Amino acid sequence: MRTRQSATLAVDAALRARRAAGEDVLHLAFGEAGLPVPEAVAERLRAAARLNGYGPVAGSAEAREAAAGWFGRRGLPTDAGRVVFAPGSKPLLYALIAALPGDVVLPRPSWVSYAAQSALAGKRVHRVPVPDAAGGIPDPEALAALLARERPGVLVLTVPDNPTGTVAGREVLAEVCALAERHGLAVVADEIYADLLHPDGPSRAGEAPGARGTEGTPSAAALLPERTVVTTGLSKATALGGWRVGFARVPEGPWGDAVLEELTGVASEIWSALAAPMQAAAAWVLGDPPEVRDHVGASRRLHAAVARAVHAEFTAAGALCRPPAAGFYLYPDFGPLRAELAERTGVSTGAELAAALLERHGVGVLAGAEFGDDPAALRFRAATSLLYGETEAERRLALGSAD
Ligand code: PLP
Repeated sequence: MRTRQSATLAVDAALRARRAAGEDVLHLAFGEAGLPVPEAVAERLRAAARLNGYGPVAGSAEAREAAAGWFGRRGLPTDAGRVVFAPGSKPLLYALIAALPGDVVLPRPSWVSYAAQSALAGKRVHRVPVPDAAGGIPDPEALAALLARERPGVLVLTVPDNPTGTVAGREVLAEVCALAERHGLAVVADEIYADLLHPDGPSRAGEAPGARGTEGTPSAAALLPERTVVTTGLSKATALGGWRVGFARVPEGPWGDAVLEELTGVASEIWSALAAPMQAAAAWVLGDPPEVRDHVGASRRLHAAVARAVHAEFTAAGALCRPPAAGFYLYPDFGPLRAELAERTGVSTGAELAAALLERHGVGVLAGAEFGDDPAALRFRAATSLLYGETEAERRLALGSAD
């Protein structure tokens, strides 16, 4: 079996090479905020530099306590013993997909790595289209049709979503969770963008913002408590992607006990434990100090402003694009412009459009096909770059970090 490099990292490598060759490139393909590490956070890591030793697989007691408190403040009371740390949520997701029995249901489109990870774990993938209003979850009717003929074991949900930048409404999420319960599915709830809910974003389908916990995004863990594992980390809202800190919340109960044992077993054979200094710094960050709250708040406002502005441009150009509500992605569908684009530029698929943007204009994006979407659609994901800010300080921060 051959596993090609993940599309996001492959585009990143191509852009780095062009930049190194002196070209002016625009990197809209990577899912990271690009904000500097706040000084107070860097200080915690410096102070922890001498920590050594492997430590327990799931994480130190201090880090697990801090993560449990973090979940608790978001409306999910959590015992520290149900938290598992990892070097990023990506290996956690892989470990979970590998640990949970059965084939995998993914929304279409969904984050690039779920399908590749499922293949690595020897699983079949069933892709179910997302509802019109928001991505990240399968359309309930289409899911019910699939479950009438297949018996998958795992359902992955991404709320808020990558690539559509939308947040599923609580009602439709509840429908999906009810189906999962009826058919005995395990739910993996990837909530890594939950703290990046746009302050003035469009309300999710059929509900006002602020419906759950601190951040207001609905969680499958509240709707299907006994069979949902939540994954998250410090890469997105806290903008510490290079620190590789991810963590999961495994539910209470016999099913959760078995998952915790299996997940810890897989983790013990793959990463042993998250780096000790990172655990100490993460414990501090997860304790919600004001420096981190300010940092995340600024990131949230910046990304909302950029997403709004870019959405307006895409819409004015004639593309179809769901209004972004969280995170830093937009997912425009250039279908309505297909004929015009083909005539003017010779490209007629999303993959060709992404390649042409890279080759002709030095702009890196990802084609919808990378998210398991219709390969013929003229569709791509655009991550935002930091060009706007609502206050002078935010603009300075944004401009200072744009390389
Ligand atoms: N889940 C989603 C939806 C993502 O977009 C990403 C990163 O792009 C990840 C998980 C993995 O993030 P990390 O491994 O940095 O925690």
